[in-house]
Amino acid sequence: MAARTGVQFLEGLRRRPRDLWIDGQRVADPVDHPAFRNIVRSIAALFDMQHEPALRDEMTYASPSSGERVGLSFLVPRTRDDLVRTRKMMKRWADYSGGFMGRTPDYLNRALVGYASAAEYCGENDPRFGENIQRYYEYVREHDLCLTHTLINPQANRSVGPARQADPFLAARIKEENSRGLVIRGARMLATLPVSDEIMVFPSTLLKVGEEDAPYAWAVAIPNDTPGLRFLCRESFDYGRSHFDHPLGSRFEEMDAVVIFDDVLVPWDRVFLLRDVEKCNRAFAATGAVAHMAHQVVTKNVAKTEFLLGVASLIVDTIAIEPFQHVHEKVAEIIINLEAMRAFLYASEMEAQVNRWGALQPAWPPLDAARNVYTRMYPRMVEILQQLGASGFMAIPTEQDAQGPQGEAIRKYYQAARADAVDRIKLFRLAWDIAISAFGSRQVLYERFFFGDPVRMAGAMFNSYDRKPYMDRVREFLERAGRQAPSVPEVRAPGDGSTG
Ligand SMILES: Cc1cc2nc3c(=O)[nH]c(=O)nc-3n(C[C@H](O)[C@H](O)[C@H](O)COP(=O)(O)OP(=O)(O)OC[C@H]3O[C@@H](n4cnc5c(N)ncnc54)[C@H](O)[C@@H]3O)c2cc1C
Repeated sequence: MAARTGVQFLEGLRRRPRDLWIDGQRVADPVDHPAFRNIVRSIAALFDMQHEPALRDEMTYASPSSGERVGLSFLVPRTRDDLVRTRKMMKRWADYSGGFMGRTPDYLNRALVGYASAAEYCGENDPRFGENIQRYYEYVREHDLCLTHTLINPQANRSVGPARQADPFLAARIKEENSRGLVIRGARMLATLPVSDEIMVFPSTLLKVGEEDAPYAWAVAIPNDTPGLRFLCRESFDYGRSHFDHPLGSRFEEMDAVVIFDDVLVPWDRVFLLRDVEKCNRAFAATGAVAHMAHQVVTKNVAKTEFLLGVASLIVDTIAIEPFQHVHEKVAEIIINLEAMRAFLYASEMEAQVNRWGALQPAWPPLDAARNVYTRMYPRMVEILQQLGASGFMAIPTEQDAQGPQGEAIRKYYQAARADAVDRIKLFRLAWDIAISAFGSRQVLYERFFFGDPVRMAGAMFNSYDRKPYMDRVREFLERAGRQAPSVPEVRAPGDGSTG
């Protein structure tokens, strides 16, 4: 079976030590390092699901090349049923973390599905590039690799492009091309889940058409242990505490890293686009990759909103605040968000169309609407949790407290209307890890930005959405209203006497 087990994923990480840094030190083995040991085990658990006898058919399909079972998130959809099957598989992975792992491997598997199904798009740049992306997709599928990606240039001076920064090699750029491949120097910001197998270094930031930005316009993928490739991590929000104390941070802290390329050699067979600014600017949309990714993202949003609804409802029940009307309104707001996300997701499947590359592409407008609105919905739902939990979030003793000399006092004074003290504290610590902790704050930032700057996403929607039919309809209405209505002869009822 090509689909990997968790142990195979962990062994893979160990076999290929990468240049990974945190707190001023190089990480010798991420599988055992305190900042990474929990997240890599959470990813491993996802891989293991593929091998559970009851889930095997739901999570995998027969590879068209090897016939072996491979992960279903690699499926190129041809029918609506393919889309629905893939969504169900992705939902199961999302539910594992309540949606708090943004980088379950299906996220980038869907990007690869988009790119590879549109291999001709890369091939138009150079026929070898089309073959490369197709081969790379098959390689990742057959080896069940877990990918990270980096798209954004460093945030030094956003008022000018990468070529006009203080140093032209601040943003990763082609330093040279030689017989073996491209040599890349500079940095990219940011890559979530650096404890993955390989990195897709793809275009996203809009570049200026012309020679100036051409050295920044390319798409490649390389193993994370490629010489010269370095990951500088932020501090970890997994503080090494128990699942009782930090229910989410102790499991799902994915980590984000700045990626540095110190003259990294990218072999030619890993180059998918090169020096074609216009093609790079359009790549995610033109290949359908962004729609396939958004299908995964909105599936995750449904899982996450369901989880938030569960947490909010348990808070309401536990401290008996259900009599209050504003509480109903707040919980209803979460329900409305959930149903809206579901509706966007189902609409994207119902209105899916075969794209010019022959893949069935989920409809973009509902997914685009979902990704725009979730940047506001998610922070608001976190605010609702804070409004419901109030000072309860400050009455959350740790596991050590509960087991220590104050245990008896805690059991008495931390009880709730419908839960004993320990169950109340467990629930409120979970809600705290969503709404207040460093892990929770990073989740808010993630939902605001990970799929792009919301301001520019709205701008892109403004510019691309076909509003003309609606303008025409209103124009036609105004014309109709302005035309003189035909005069109707006055009809008097027989014997109509005026009564004043
Ligand atoms: C937690 C987290 C994880 C992430 N993970 C990844 C990852 O794995 N891989 C990856 O590639 N990226 C990742 N990202 C980056 C993400 O793609 C960017 O945050 C997003 O595209 C916005 O870019 P930026 O952060 O550079 O913001 P900036 O572009 O620096 O924007 C800063 C501010 O300036 C404004 N601004 C800047 N330029 C313009 C403009 N031209 N027009 C209008 N306003 C402008 C923005 O609206 C914003 O208010 C992640 C981000 C976060 C927060």
